[in-house]
Amino acid sequence: MSASRTHHIAVLPGDGIGPEVTAAAVAVLRAGAERHGYRIEVSEHLVGGAAIDATGEPLPAETLAACRAADAVLLGAVGGPKWSDPGARARPEQGLLALRQGLGLYANLRPVRPHPAALGASPIKPHLLAGVDLLVVRELTGGIYFGARERSATHASDLCTYSVEEIERIVRRAGALARERRGYLVSVDKANVLETSRLWRETATRVMREEFPDVRLEHQLVDAMAMHLIARPREYDVIVTENMFGDILTDEASMLAGSLGLLPSASLGDGRVGLYEPIHGSAPDIAGRGVANPFAAIASAALLLRHSLGLEDEAACIEQAMARALDAGALTADLAGPGTAIDTAAATRAVIAALD
Ligand code: ATP
Ligand code: MG
Repeated sequence: MSASRTHHIAVLPGDGIGPEVTAAAVAVLRAGAERHGYRIEVSEHLVGGAAIDATGEPLPAETLAACRAADAVLLGAVGGPKWSDPGARARPEQGLLALRQGLGLYANLRPVRPHPAALGASPIKPHLLAGVDLLVVRELTGGIYFGARERSATHASDLCTYSVEEIERIVRRAGALARERRGYLVSVDKANVLETSRLWRETATRVMREEFPDVRLEHQLVDAMAMHLIARPREYDVIVTENMFGDILTDEASMLAGSLGLLPSASLGDGRVGLYEPIHGSAPDIAGRGVANPFAAIASAALLLRHSLGLEDEAACIEQAMARALDAGALTADLAGPGTAIDTAAATRAVIAALD
């Protein structure tokens, strides 16, 4: 992939603070393009509650088609109290699930690297956090969230299933990422109890032995891992796990970083198109006030450059600019002490000013 062609980015602002933080991320992408000579073209599309209001559907066909035709998708957030009536025909979150499915995205990457300026905002003691640099790789399409459900008045069940192919492809992805980093992969399961976890562990062991003999593989039970993540987060590097365990562990891991407003994610498949979004939600409590932290969205844009456009140096420049801006005190209300917080626009300008 070269910097000379024009990269098409489908932007889905969504709901709540989504439009505010995606606008910030696009501004940084454009500033980076001007400085580093890559070319981007951005088009905006409806998803979530905004799409329900306009079309009745949480993922209009036009939006899915535009995302499929793009090189990458940048999403804000979906949902909010306006659309959360349990009796509602269409729900914003269905739009996101349909989008992941429609793009064949099975690997959710959540890097967690606490920045020194944000350590005070974490509930974990700062001396445990210095030097933490984690990448959690969560399987996104299988497991108990997608199994058959049954319900009677007195009984309920949720089926957890995984196929060897589903496990192989996510372990491969994590193995490749671990190889590029510290050569150390932890696979998380509950193999002392669950059959799906036994298949997971056997498959992970085989794939890593056959295809990644240079990467050290370790297995952890999910309950123990929940503890280790808080007690010794510095010791870990890449962590791969199934859908529900990954959901829970990534929310836990996010607390290491100080604020939800800092953490990006990438959702990838075997296809060309990746989906990039902050891990936070639509934050209806602060929406429309221009005070949201744009860093998670800007960091998601950096992941987009890295993973979908192959622009590693350009991604690193944005990440370094964010670090410099935080060092210089560009802290929004979720990170700053009372009276010292800056707003979304000022934080965005600080990142742009810190780009080389
Ligand atoms: P979802 O169900 O969509 O994940 P949620 O219920 O987890 O949403 P969020 O929307 O992520 O909730 O918000 C949780 C809290 O974090 C809220 O108080 C919100 O204001 C705050 N928050 C989330 N994102 C940001 C941000 N970018 N900047 C500042 N505060 C944020
Ligand atoms: Mg949430």
